[in-house]
Amino acid sequence: MICPNITVNEKNHLCFAGRDTTQLAEKYSTPLYLYDEQLIRQKCRMYKKAMAEYMGAGSRPVYAGKAACFKHMYEIMGQEDMCVDLVSSGEIYTAMKAGFPMERAFFHGNNKTDGDIAYAIDCGVGHFVVDSFDELYALDAIAKEKGVVQKVLLRVTPGIDPHTYEAVNTGKVDSKFGVAIETGQAAEFCKAALELSNISLQGWHCHVGSQVFDEDHSVYHDTAEIMLSFMKEMNEKHGLSLNVLNIGGGYGVRYVNSDPAIDIPQNIKTLGDFIKEYCEKLAMPAPIILMEPGRSIVADAGMTLYTVGTIKKIPGYKNYVSIDGGMTDNPRYALYGSKYTVFNASRVESEDKLRCDLVGRCCESDDVIQPDVSLTAPGRGDVVAVCTTGAYNYSMSSNYNRVGRPAVLMLTETGEHIAVRRETLEDILSCDM
Ligand SMILES: *Cc1c(COP(=O)(O)O)cnc(C)c1O
Repeated sequence: MICPNITVNEKNHLCFAGRDTTQLAEKYSTPLYLYDEQLIRQKCRMYKKAMAEYMGAGSRPVYAGKAACFKHMYEIMGQEDMCVDLVSSGEIYTAMKAGFPMERAFFHGNNKTDGDIAYAIDCGVGHFVVDSFDELYALDAIAKEKGVVQKVLLRVTPGIDPHTYEAVNTGKVDSKFGVAIETGQAAEFCKAALELSNISLQGWHCHVGSQVFDEDHSVYHDTAEIMLSFMKEMNEKHGLSLNVLNIGGGYGVRYVNSDPAIDIPQNIKTLGDFIKEYCEKLAMPAPIILMEPGRSIVADAGMTLYTVGTIKKIPGYKNYVSIDGGMTDNPRYALYGSKYTVFNASRVESEDKLRCDLVGRCCESDDVIQPDVSLTAPGRGDVVAVCTTGAYNYSMSSNYNRVGRPAVLMLTETGEHIAVRRETLEDILSCDM
């Protein structure tokens, strides 16, 4: 199976985190997002342990909240003693309402409005990750008005192309995110931050991209080399001893069997060893390392269940199996051609298979969950499971065609509970005057 928490029971039904998915579909209706809460907690602990062990005291993961953002997720992150990344006033509000300790939050984004900046300061966000000169000056001015000295990391672009899909590739010089080292602008960015009275510069941030497998370790090692050299240069030039380096997120996850499975602790060890050695070479102390995993914490802890509706066979062409959700709950195929593993959860194993496009219910031809998949004898009313949907599915969902968002059901060791209820017709109308 694509993930160890997916199994098949004696009724030939698909199970997730030990639960029969067809029973969950019947009890809670579909579409339905599932999360294996124990797996999320295990991933947090795995990152924390490996980073503390292999990257030195103070090094720790920062969960990228945008991957899956709702109150209960921040409750989990609070309980697991994680830091989090937030990218909007809405995400800050969600974390606040979950009681997340805001000093452990990092505020990201390439275009924080004055309103966002003021709100984040009022909420006591620990660090801003400042993305541009404009933001730096706006933040200094607003912090001054409020009588606050704001801790910041500066986001710079190391100029690394991780060879992943363009839309999730952010570390190149021509990116909309961060300030480039190569052009000399990042050095100016540092100088500007040091001159501002209400900015307290703590260190550096970069993020080269997402769904990075980095099997030969070149992406993160090259990134670390560039960033460490830059840190040393800035420390020497300005007589500083900044010792925080956030190297971003992005370890890839396995969506289909042909994707490699990454041994994350082993990768962290290899990277940690490399950083120590490189720092010795540069004769500088090894910094505290922060990493920002999103997808690799929540993706395979998630699954989406749907019910099969219309089945359309076009002899000599292709077959369509339509489900009761689509791009409104998972726009990732439409956005980036993302791959997924799918099952007929009501009949997992059978010789009788149908090749088909698994499509949604929206009035849009690109509303495809996955083209050209093999489903075992699908029939109207069967439950279809799409695996590895825990990242960037619920958080990217929409109300296109006035379709309500599905519920989010957490599966725990001892039971299950709704973390986000299903949107009703009244919810759909709730902002209409
Ligand atoms: C999206 C993002 C992440 C998380 O990326 P994943 O691929 O989900 O691990 C981390 N840091 C920044 C700045 C991001 O924009």
